Amino acid sequence: MYDNHIHCHEFPREELEGYVKEWSLVCVSDDLQSSRKTLELEAAVKCLGIHPWQVEKAQPGDLEAVLHLIERSEAQCIGEVGLDKRFVPHSFDKQREYFRIFLKTARELDLVVNVHAPDAWVDVVEELRKADVDRALIHWYTGPLELLETIRDLGYYVSINPAVVIQKKHQEVAKAADRRIVLVESDGPYEYRGMRLAPPAIRKTVEKLAELWETTQEYVVEVVENNAARLWRR
Ligand SMILES: [Zn+2]
Repeated sequence: MYDNHIHCHEFPREELEGYVKEWSLVCVSDDLQSSRKTLELEAAVKCLGIHPWQVEKAQPGDLEAVLHLIERSEAQCIGEVGLDKRFVPHSFDKQREYFRIFLKTARELDLVVNVHAPDAWVDVVEELRKADVDRALIHWYTGPLELLETIRDLGYYVSINPAVVIQKKHQEVAKAADRRIVLVESDGPYEYRGMRLAPPAIRKTVEKLAELWETTQEYVVEVVENNAARLWRR
């Protein structure tokens, strides 16, 4: 199965080697250094970028260097990039400047964008639309339910995190979203309320989705894997 959003570069190498045997990992990066590291890892999809939390710490030249890596490498995806009004609202202007440049690059090179957007859900969708980006995944979506239709109509996806077993808002999203836009992710090795997020936790997501959709786990796997194959053109 695909893990459509995981910070592979933060895992110990042996642990990652174990996951690679069983999972198709979509590895995202946080900054220039981790973008370089992601390129060296074994992964189904490599995403390079500068995370909104890292934008304020980025050195002059880091953005150009990451863009250069994206252009010169086999990376098929830009991420983790986006906008964040919940955790780092003070750097919003610089985040938007970076995000717009990444979106322009995604458009030019026909790459997928792996997006972070806490409390900037409407902003990211608007930026993606304006930039005319074709393929995007808004990860760990807990935004407005009304926006899900727009996301679908634009051809974008949302990913459901294992936090869905406890996070009420995320459960509502999982229920309300058109199933054709739903993907799964771990966002590992991030921790959420005592849960260590890593690919095996996706099994809990599948269980929960089966319950919320009143269907079988096999069907859930089939749906999310078909969606991933479409997004990643596999
Ligand atoms: Zn992440």
